[in-house]
Amino acid sequence: GAAARADIGVVGLAVMGRNLARNLARHGHVVALHNRTRARVGELVERYGDEGEFVAAEDAASFVAALKRPRRVVVMVKAGTGTDAAIEELLPHLEEGDIVVDGGNAHFEDTRRRERDLRERGLHFVGTGVSGGEEGALLGPSIMPGGSRESYDALGPILESIAVDVDGTPCCTYVGPDGAGHFVKMVHNGIEYADMQLIGEAYDLLRQGLGMEPSDLAKVFAEWNEGDLESFLIETTATVLAKVDAATGSPLVDVVVDQAEQKGTGRWTVQTALELGVPVTGIAEAVFARSLSGAADQRRAVRDAGSLPGPSGSLSPQEAEGFVDDVRSALYASKVVAYAQGFDMIAAGSEHYGWGIDKGAMATIWRGGCIIRARFLDRIREAYDRDPHLASLLLDDYFAGAVADAQDAWRRVVVAAVRLGVPAPGFSSALAYYDALRRDRLPAALLQGLRDFFGAHTYARVDREGIYHVLWSEDG
Ligand code: NAP
Repeated sequence: GAAARADIGVVGLAVMGRNLARNLARHGHVVALHNRTRARVGELVERYGDEGEFVAAEDAASFVAALKRPRRVVVMVKAGTGTDAAIEELLPHLEEGDIVVDGGNAHFEDTRRRERDLRERGLHFVGTGVSGGEEGALLGPSIMPGGSRESYDALGPILESIAVDVDGTPCCTYVGPDGAGHFVKMVHNGIEYADMQLIGEAYDLLRQGLGMEPSDLAKVFAEWNEGDLESFLIETTATVLAKVDAATGSPLVDVVVDQAEQKGTGRWTVQTALELGVPVTGIAEAVFARSLSGAADQRRAVRDAGSLPGPSGSLSPQEAEGFVDDVRSALYASKVVAYAQGFDMIAAGSEHYGWGIDKGAMATIWRGGCIIRARFLDRIREAYDRDPHLASLLLDDYFAGAVADAQDAWRRVVVAAVRLGVPAPGFSSALAYYDALRRDRLPAALLQGLRDFFGAHTYARVDREGIYHVLWSEDG
């Protein structure tokens, strides 16, 4: 009708939705607004109304009526029951071909369910990863939309217009059907966990191994940010380590309680990886390391008991001399492994659910807006440009060369960590993964023998077709 003049609508005007709505309006789109608590609508228009054109809706019906068809509605509410409630409220007013976008942090299985439900009603449902937090939502997020191809034709240009731009390319592209977008966002968050764990280990090893202070370490990270490791997280590490607490004059990092919290996307990634059978050891170690840090009572009991001794070793002067560079190399190599595993997980999910995800395109849209944005992602994009079917990122010439160059240092650092008694589960499990992957034969052959012995689970032979079972304790 005559009133339908909005290009897109936003439901849910807390910090994320409000900033996305403003971003959309700033890019010339007419934005209809709706929120359960109506006061938020008026507040937004009052404070930011001059940034673009908004339509303040009275209720869900007038909100939907204000939208041009096919209607495009972005739901940005508290994930879970909030999302279902918001969709439920819109449904009676939507018509065939309309598009509902969920920009919240939904589990991809919920997205698959919602997509199926809405598809049965002739609607498109687009589960979309949105990365970059509140600042990204306003200034340019990385956007990972899943759903039907058809919906992307109507929606893509608008999303691309508000996504962050890197070298002329928007950090937004069609990911794949139903849950693909939220799946990719989940793996992105998992990789973020792994990346942060590795940074934490590098910091800990340098601090314990060389006795460096946070202010010195800030300089080391700032220097690393000039090279291959250049990334938002390394840069931020330098900033966080340099911060002095105003109240005590101590490095702020020394005043912060050492118990890592988690909102759950790392856990989702690992749970899903277990289901898919993908060894994302870097992400798993990172999630478990957070859990261990958070086990406050147990850690206190161990500390109070004082009965678990550590080693008395320290670095030799010779080891100490090259240690900063060694740790940098170990960090880089471990990071290559963590990302290789993350991309393997995307490949496995894509295969299992039939999504056809383009891995190089995912590296491309993670170059901006995301927490894991880094120079490194250009290398990943280039690797998949060279060979879209790469069996592992580690096989790409560039990454293979980088890891080969790093491996002596990487092994020295893991040995040093063991000798010093500094936990480095990320570094050491990445190295174990690398060594297992490159092995000709694995001790899995022995496991198969054990399984066949006690459970008659059978085994295959290297020299003949078929499956075999034998009585292992009998001759012949
Ligand atoms: P939030 O605190 O997660 O949610 C608040 C919004 O949800 C409000 O608009 C609230 O309406 C609405 N809401 C909650 N329950 C509802 C229900 N039952 N029915 C209808 N509306 C309901 O907001 P946020 O931090 O802006 O995040 C929005 C989404 O983006 C979440 O899924 C979040 O996980 C995701 N996300 C957040 C970030 C971030 O950095 N914060 C980054 C990426 C993604 P009222 O005003 O009426 O309470």
